Amino acid sequence: MGKLEETCASLRAQIAATEAQLAGLKRDLVRAESQAVHSDDPAENSQSRWPLLQEEYKRYGRQMIVSQVGLPGQLKLRSAKVLLVGAGGLGCPAAQYLVGAGVGTIGLIDGDTVEVSNLHRQVLHRSYNVGKYKVDSAIESLRDLNPHVNYIAHRTHLTPADAAAIFNEYDLILDCTDNPATRYLISDTAVLLGKPLVSASALRTEGQLVVLNNPPRAPGDKEGGPCYRCVFPKPPPAESVVSCADGGILGPVVGTMGVLQALEAIKVITADAPSAPTLHIFSAYSNPLFRTIRLRSRRPNCAVCSADATVSLDTIKTGSTDYVFFCGSASLPSLLGPDERVSPEEYREQCPDTVNHTVIDVRDSAQFGICNLENSINIPISNILASTSQKSDDKDQSTSLPPWLPSDVLNPESKDPIYVVCRLGNDSQIAVKRMKELGLDRNGERFIGDIRGGFRAWREQIDPQWPEY
Ligand SMILES: [Zn+2]
Repeated sequence: MGKLEETCASLRAQIAATEAQLAGLKRDLVRAESQAVHSDDPAENSQSRWPLLQEEYKRYGRQMIVSQVGLPGQLKLRSAKVLLVGAGGLGCPAAQYLVGAGVGTIGLIDGDTVEVSNLHRQVLHRSYNVGKYKVDSAIESLRDLNPHVNYIAHRTHLTPADAAAIFNEYDLILDCTDNPATRYLISDTAVLLGKPLVSASALRTEGQLVVLNNPPRAPGDKEGGPCYRCVFPKPPPAESVVSCADGGILGPVVGTMGVLQALEAIKVITADAPSAPTLHIFSAYSNPLFRTIRLRSRRPNCAVCSADATVSLDTIKTGSTDYVFFCGSASLPSLLGPDERVSPEEYREQCPDTVNHTVIDVRDSAQFGICNLENSINIPISNILASTSQKSDDKDQSTSLPPWLPSDVLNPESKDPIYVVCRLGNDSQIAVKRMKELGLDRNGERFIGDIRGGFRAWREQIDPQWPEY
């Protein structure tokens, strides 16, 4: 180990030790403050002329003088119990504002741990908490913000078996998750237990927000607010569902949606009457930024909130309402045969230099711009899939081939192999299939295959310096 590396390692160790000590001191302080607040002579408190503590009047004064809140609203917030499902990009800002506003009990459920790639948008987590449970990391920050709140950590993923038992302890649910199966589970459970639900989602530059089951009435009662199934009776096709890891996300976009969830939650808790059900759609690069769609009331044939409901707490718990089956599975089987795929190492052996072969990188141009192979050509998968040309028996193939093809691929004399690569090795397979459908392999005369595992495998096998994003 070089001397500089030794110094770095020593500094890192000292920082870690100091941070651990600091975290311990903070915990002690929070405990002491909390005891001071709650045990501040209980006998005196119970006889106090004032329903809030002196510190709380100061802390919440600016929001209490807003006429929509007032003292009655503040007292409602203090006795409210809110569960946030997900402590990520939506859950962090939503929790931050609810805790700031003085919601009495906040529960967080999430089985994930903090990753570096979360930090740009999941604003409660700190770099030194990478690897820690998100709920613990979030609660650590939230306690610093407001020690008066009662925090409950659920270090687990929400499952149909335990959803009802957890939801039962709360008055209001926030859906801060990112996958369809969990969204239906959350909505169904909230409806069946009579809890209003504030649901949001965000991807890339767009977001959605809707308050559901508000007012929360029993299934079959037409006065109740619509549920997630009323708005989205069918899940999107599994293959069209893109996660933030694959599609990307701007921090302020998901932050906006999370803050709005907190706002809607405060309105649900403090308002006397619910507002009309509305779907808000946010689009960061559109003008205006928001569109709103007025929603219909409950669907007469909804599977969970209508008189003809087939989903019950029992069918959820026993698994006969199968959410994964309902939403389908997006896991992509290998589309190509073994002779159509090469590992990054095999590619390197077959093509030691940049000549006599073509590499097509099918990631989108933003990803291509982050890192790319020197000899590769960028043709996004969306272009390849959008092309309508079909394999034709024409001698002059070029007339029927799409314009995005590079000239060396079009050259009818060339037998140079074509390798297709993407980020994880899924899109590359789809692209190879499509290119073969277009007849580019000339019935097997020309090799077209993908680099198995994409750039993730490339990083592992060939180039450890390749950026992992
Ligand atoms: Zn419904």
